[in-house]
Amino acid sequence: MSEWVLTVGLEIHVELETKTKMFCGCLNDPFNSKPNTHVCTVCYGLPGALPVMNRKAVEMTARLGQALNGKIASRPFWARKNYFYPDLPKGYQISQSTEPLIRDAVLVIDGQPHRIHRIHLEEDAGKLMHDNNGKSLVDYNRAGVPLMEIVTEPDFHSAASAKHFCQELQQVIRHLGLSQADMEKGRMRCEANVSISKEGEELGDKVEVKNINSFRAVEKAIEYEYSRQKSLREKNERVAQETRTWSEKEGKTIVMRRKETSADYRYFPEPDLPFVAVKLSGKEQSALLPEEQRSKLRQLGMPEAIAKSIVERQEFESIISTYQAASNRFKKDEVARKMMIEDGKMRLGFPRLSELSASERVTLLDEKDKRGWTKPTMEKIIEAVLGGGKSVSETVAELSSESVDLSDILKEVVSQQPKAVEDYHQGKEAAFNFLVGQVMAKTKGQANIGLVREELKKTLG
Ligand code: ZN
Ligand code: MN
Repeated sequence: MSEWVLTVGLEIHVELETKTKMFCGCLNDPFNSKPNTHVCTVCYGLPGALPVMNRKAVEMTARLGQALNGKIASRPFWARKNYFYPDLPKGYQISQSTEPLIRDAVLVIDGQPHRIHRIHLEEDAGKLMHDNNGKSLVDYNRAGVPLMEIVTEPDFHSAASAKHFCQELQQVIRHLGLSQADMEKGRMRCEANVSISKEGEELGDKVEVKNINSFRAVEKAIEYEYSRQKSLREKNERVAQETRTWSEKEGKTIVMRRKETSADYRYFPEPDLPFVAVKLSGKEQSALLPEEQRSKLRQLGMPEAIAKSIVERQEFESIISTYQAASNRFKKDEVARKMMIEDGKMRLGFPRLSELSASERVTLLDEKDKRGWTKPTMEKIIEAVLGGGKSVSETVAELSSESVDLSDILKEVVSQQPKAVEDYHQGKEAAFNFLVGQVMAKTKGQANIGLVREELKKTLG
């Protein structure tokens, strides 16, 4: 029997962080204000109120489309998507249907292209809150916040790759300054269309899973759906085409409703808004995508994991400028490269390091190499330099009497554990690991374990 193939398409909503809402002048501030304080006749959908398009939100969406090599539509327009819900006072959402802003974009991750079917712009709904007495409250501060919807092609065949896509997309959006896109806050929300089929068979009916509120949940919800659908199919039962919700608490998907088709929304062109005209200047110089930043760091000799972490922390610019400063200072690329790699590694552990000047960093790194400093020692020195306004060399001279270096800890452990030392000399590997464990414990797990092993071997002779 052939295996079941999982097929997933994603629909991702992201709130744009513009100053004002999509179709009125109300502040776009759904998180920090009292309920219903950023609202007007447009937000409430009162009769006669007219929407005015937020140019900035259109530009932001177009910039994402441009960064992902999408086609910007020549004459995109707005449409009404009709449905009734208490958080949607107009009875329709202004969205885009047949002419979305962007089509056929591509997000490249680790050299692999991922196809995006469309990116369109719409407005967010309000937020419902349900109390314990059966009452529901609604906050319209979020109603009308600009919302981008990114729809992928159904190209994912594993839960992990779908999750990875969401993570990379978040980085791209952060990088372009469109939104923080945090999933916990609901600034980014994922829905997964999941189906299974036998190889060579047509795609099965898809199930839409909503309310996925973390990257981890993207993976878990898809995995859950895969097993649920598989066990249905293996019992020769049909998988119903429906919308389900992910319950984080129960770790499963629960049926919400039978799927509407797009005909149920009775889309029609929004008569109160004009066509959208999109003009963008050339691709901005600073707009290196995370994938491009990682590859640039790799070219300069930075190890993969460190490059990844630097890009994730949006520290690419400062690492590159440190690199350039070091190259200028030494006029020797090899030194600069080593410096940059070290700096990248260090920065993972010591965020405040970037507050030191490039030359101070070089001195500090040299000292660290010579002395095999542990993390607490390094932290102490960085804090002392930043707090005391003295140079690294002065601070090191002052502190060296009191700071505990790795070599001191090694000597201490060796003298406290004569039995283990003896066992080690008789060739017992476990004894060596025990000693490494003792050293790590004394450094509170902060020392580099590779360095500890190396130095311990030397100390033991
Ligand atoms: Zn308003
Ligand atoms: Mn939508």
